[in-house]
Amino acid sequence: MTHICSNCNYKFEPKGKVPNKCPYCDKEGTLSKSKSMQEWIDEVSDEMKEG
Ligand SMILES: [Zn+2]
Repeated sequence: MTHICSNCNYKFEPKGKVPNKCPYCDKEGTLSKSKSMQEWIDEVSDEMKEG
C-alpha cells in the first residue's frame, strides 16, 4: 500500500510497519494511505448503490 506525506507529498511503500513520521521531511503524523485509481472507482460505485 502506497503512503503519501501530506506535508511534502513524498510517496513511498513501507516494507512492513508504517512509520509514524515521514522518512523524507521527518514530520510526524502526516502519512496517509494513497488511494489507487481502483479504490476510487470502488468507493464511487458503492455510493451509487446506496442512493
Ligand atoms: Zn514528508
